[in-house]
Amino acid sequence: MTTMSPADALDRVVYLLDRDLAEGRRVAAYAKARDLARDLGDDEVTRLHRAGELLDQPGIGPSTGKVIALAIDGGIDEHLAALDAETAIDVGAGAELRAALKGDCHSHTFWSDGGASVTEMGRTAMALGHEYLVITDHSPRLTIAHGLDRERLLEQLDEIERVNEELAPFRVLTGMEVDILQDGSLDQDVDLLERLDVVVASVHSKLRMPAPEMTRRMVLAVASPHVDILGHCTGRKVVGGGRPPSEFDADIVFAACARFDTAVEINCRPERQDPPEELLALALDWDCKVSIDTDAHAPGQLEWQVYGCDKAARMEIEPERVVNTKSADDLIAWASSHPTT
Ligand SMILES: [Zn+2]
Ligand SMILES: [Zn+2]
Repeated sequence: MTTMSPADALDRVVYLLDRDLAEGRRVAAYAKARDLARDLGDDEVTRLHRAGELLDQPGIGPSTGKVIALAIDGGIDEHLAALDAETAIDVGAGAELRAALKGDCHSHTFWSDGGASVTEMGRTAMALGHEYLVITDHSPRLTIAHGLDRERLLEQLDEIERVNEELAPFRVLTGMEVDILQDGSLDQDVDLLERLDVVVASVHSKLRMPAPEMTRRMVLAVASPHVDILGHCTGRKVVGGGRPPSEFDADIVFAACARFDTAVEINCRPERQDPPEELLALALDWDCKVSIDTDAHAPGQLEWQVYGCDKAARMEIEPERVVNTKSADDLIAWASSHPTT
């Protein structure tokens, strides 16, 4: 029997549930119990368990209490192995492409609406075999997601510098998922966008605006030399209630992506799967580059790249067209080389 601290066991459950796109409330319950277990410490958690007082703790329920009990009394390995098997993501046709990826260009942390720190996200990306992870938290006007204004983005850049010292040779690259505002302008100061390694630009508001306006809005963003990747271009959601794709002239938008060397994102989130295949085929016809990104909001979600790789393989996308097959230095060089006119 291997021993695992209750907090580590709960953390592993959180990871596996996130990978499975489990219901937010369920994941949050395990995350809360994990944080409590970390705060209390192993000895105190064990004492509470032995005294039968675990379930009296606010934030510990029957399911989270069971994981703690298994970690202390034995049986946690079997429990986690079963959950691991249940939530495993199998790679199919995209195996070779996945192996060729060196990083992920779209991810979130505690700084905006993510569920983990820069360090935790970086460590997980490293464990998945990556050389780098681009942190792209939201921009200020996405207040619902605690978007980063100028001051907070600068603070984050300092933190990333510290994390890089800790995780080297792995690299956390700086970035932002900048909102494409209704007039096509970008929701962050240009001097900061210029300073970031990689910028993803996405539409998050007024998704239903008329096609001619949406086309203009997207083209203006794509044409910016500071924008490197067009994030989840249709904004559709395919899980639960779903959300229809935005309407825009895809020929014009993808022609602009090709002209200004902005990659079209293959967003791997299971509820997005954006763009749909017919639209991705059009982007390929226009000779656009692509970026296969998870848009992970938690460590376990960084495994989702497999979905995008399978899709890209089905569409016979060659690795040279995928920007995150580049090394970190080549990616940064590419991102700072877009034409301005
Ligand atoms: Zn987004
Ligand atoms: Zn995102």
